[in-house]
Amino acid sequence: MNPYLDEDLVALGDQARRFAADRLAPGFQDRDRTRILDRSLMKEMGAMGFIAPELPEQFGGLGMATLAAGVIHEEIARADLSMSYVNLLASLNGQILSQHGKPEIVTPWLTRLMAGEALFAIALTEPRGGSDAANLRLRIERDGDDYIVNGEKTSISAADQADAAVVFGRTGTVESGAHGVTALLIPLELPGVTRSRFDCHGQRAIGRGSLFFENVRVPGSHRLGDENKGFVQVMQGFDFSRALIGLQVLAVARAALDETWQYVAQRQAFGKTLSAFQGVSHPLADLDTQVEAARLLCLQALWLKDKGLPHSAEAAMCKWWAPKLAYDVIHQCLLMHGHGGYDRGAMEQRLRDVLGFQIGDGTAQIMKTIIARARAGRSAVPA
Ligand SMILES: Cc1cc2nc3c(=O)[nH]c(=O)nc-3n(C[C@H](O)[C@H](O)[C@H](O)COP(=O)(O)OP(=O)(O)OC[C@H]3O[C@@H](n4cnc5c(N)ncnc54)[C@H](O)[C@@H]3O)c2cc1C
Repeated sequence: MNPYLDEDLVALGDQARRFAADRLAPGFQDRDRTRILDRSLMKEMGAMGFIAPELPEQFGGLGMATLAAGVIHEEIARADLSMSYVNLLASLNGQILSQHGKPEIVTPWLTRLMAGEALFAIALTEPRGGSDAANLRLRIERDGDDYIVNGEKTSISAADQADAAVVFGRTGTVESGAHGVTALLIPLELPGVTRSRFDCHGQRAIGRGSLFFENVRVPGSHRLGDENKGFVQVMQGFDFSRALIGLQVLAVARAALDETWQYVAQRQAFGKTLSAFQGVSHPLADLDTQVEAARLLCLQALWLKDKGLPHSAEAAMCKWWAPKLAYDVIHQCLLMHGHGGYDRGAMEQRLRDVLGFQIGDGTAQIMKTIIARARAGRSAVPA
């Protein structure tokens, strides 16, 4: 029983869990080695209605609650965190496109996104830094009906695999800060776009890299939101992704915990099962409690979003707490497996996979600043 999930959402989660166990879990370690996201699996996810089910019906979506996206997301992540980036990027970018794009431009992209036929990146971070997110240098300049884009985005998830990106850049002066930023939908096959890929610690199937723009001509129709309002209008979507990231990493932690409870209930030492020792079972019980509590917080953030209520502070809580907790849980589970936990395998991959989310989409310090501003007032917590 869960106060946020009715019978339909529980059934949807069960359906996603069966699919993920059957189709995604078997190749989870192979994809880490080959560093390629499987496009045919993406299409299967799309055919099942598992990608961005919350998108409005007017764009061909299913118009479901964001809680539906959440329960699917955690089941996909439980099997393979990299594959669940497909859901995360589709929900975040799908919300931005559907709310801020011109319907005739974004509808074909949204159709492909939901079908698993296209992958979108979100390009905000620059080499100069990511935390001070409004301090952008990438230039977006008007040229008649078009924009010309010059500059670099870095540390972008799926940079070399994505078909298009939502790109934030500066249309105003450097001094204009958040009020001189514009967002564009940029198809990444346009002339002047080049890409690189990093050698990441985890999340290796989705990967990260840089996007380079050299005199890239983008039609003005591809602008998202108003000129110079990209940061203020379009950035609102990040509350959604922060709650989803919480569910994503907690699902990986839950998988590690479930396996570890089974393991310690069977493995023997000193004539007893490991779980008979409180030094083994109590740390696991502590962490299990915290995973349950953190999951409820993430579901609450989505529930608030579905009700149209403020949830920025709750989403920031999910984003700093869940990735740290998930890392601590998997670390403890790995140790409980003794020397076997240190072998290359599911447990060490999970540890590498969840770590990235202590940085990606904003660090704990930035999330705590958002929470402090919500509680004490923005003027009491200056940048
Ligand atoms: C796995 C992963 C995926 C990512 N995916 C994307 C993506 O798809 N798109 C995208 O645009 N970016 C992405 N990023 C980039 C990410 O958003 C940035 O790395 C992040 O915002 C931090 O920026 P930075 O790395 O430049 O660190 P910096 O901003 O240089 O910060 C360095 C350290 O200083 C701390 N710090 C900075 N300012 C303050 C302050 N005011 N108070 C206290 N501490 C502070 C930070 O918390 C951090 O610990 C990803 C990163 C990772 C690791």
